Amino acid sequence: MDKTRIEGQKLDMHPARVAHWLAAKDEWETAKNIFPIYMEVSPVGVCNHECTFCSVDYMLDREDAPRLEYTVLERALTDMAQQGLLSAMFAGAGEPLLYKDKATGKTLADVIVHADTVGVDTAITTNAVLLTEKFAERAFQAKRLRWVRTSLNAGDRETYAAIHRTKPEDFDTVLRNLENAVKIRERIGARVQILAQIVVVPEAQGKRRRSLLQENYPSNIHTVLPLATRLRDIGVDNLAVKPYKQHLVEKDVSRSNMYATVAYDQISKMFDDVEALETDQFEITIRRETMAHEDSAERGYKACYSTPYHWAYIEADGELWACSAHVGRVEHGKELGDHRFRLGNVNELSFMDIWHGERRKACWEYTRKSPAEGGLDVDTCMRGCQMDMPNRYLWDLMNPEPTRSFIK
Ligand code: SF4
Repeated sequence: MDKTRIEGQKLDMHPARVAHWLAAKDEWETAKNIFPIYMEVSPVGVCNHECTFCSVDYMLDREDAPRLEYTVLERALTDMAQQGLLSAMFAGAGEPLLYKDKATGKTLADVIVHADTVGVDTAITTNAVLLTEKFAERAFQAKRLRWVRTSLNAGDRETYAAIHRTKPEDFDTVLRNLENAVKIRERIGARVQILAQIVVVPEAQGKRRRSLLQENYPSNIHTVLPLATRLRDIGVDNLAVKPYKQHLVEKDVSRSNMYATVAYDQISKMFDDVEALETDQFEITIRRETMAHEDSAERGYKACYSTPYHWAYIEADGELWACSAHVGRVEHGKELGDHRFRLGNVNELSFMDIWHGERRKACWEYTRKSPAEGGLDVDTCMRGCQMDMPNRYLWDLMNPEPTRSFIK
């Protein structure tokens, strides 16, 4: 069963967009009008948890605790929808359900409802501690809210508390919220999918950012099976079992780099046991392909054909990045992240001005050049990045192997 197509690329579902990209990508005057079909938005730059594997923790200890103004978010979504944006996921470097606009009191549920009115599909990735009945009642009214995915990284209270670095009671809260969300969906006849994901991590030792203290972090491998059983019984639609991913641009300042060498080929028996829990209503997605790519020396493509074309990322401080894997900020005068991917700020400029601007043009030139010409070397990019699968698909399109492209 693969109802959700969580593993794999979906660009093949949008052939007209791909054809436009193929025709327009090589000249700036035409390439500048290739607009994103997918956006990631981080409405708030703080989190109520501190997961041991969080690879963007260097974005989360900002004293200014940035958040996007509702009016800015509303305008950006409207502008992008007019340029053909199809979907937006609210996630990023921060817990999106913490979002509340100071001036208007609007929450993420209001943003989701607005996106609905301008024809943009939405999704949320959250830890679900704040997935309250009130939130679900409002957000689930949006017909284009396609899924809410809960990051739930253990199957018991103690392991959950140690990995999310929070209190054990949050585990109970999240399960209760999921149960309520399923009931609310049924009651109001919403079609939103209720999903969950677990990042599988072994036992490890590490430090918090800016700390000298070594800490012990438990493995969550033994809890995947009980978690899957619990979620199936609650009525959740899908559990994705994922590998850890290391952000390469700031691996020295991120405290999750102790997981960088995890290999997943040792625990395939456990994955088989988890898959046996699948039913017609409850899908299990073991991200085997992603895990294999993580373990493989071969990246599978030699250029990024997704950036800066088909997607982009808006950070809580308003900066629009061509790729979320390179996201950063300025800390005490030092640039964290790769600012060649920072295109402009939606607090100051319209989406169109940013997308047609000099910074995007420079990023377009950079990603088109080979490493030998001073361009992007994808081998230095995060393994299994958000556009990994689309890039494989586009690389195949651009560099067809005669046998693979032979129809039959
Ligand atoms: S290969 Fe991945 S990480 Fe690198 S620029 Fe492209 S989308 Fe970003």
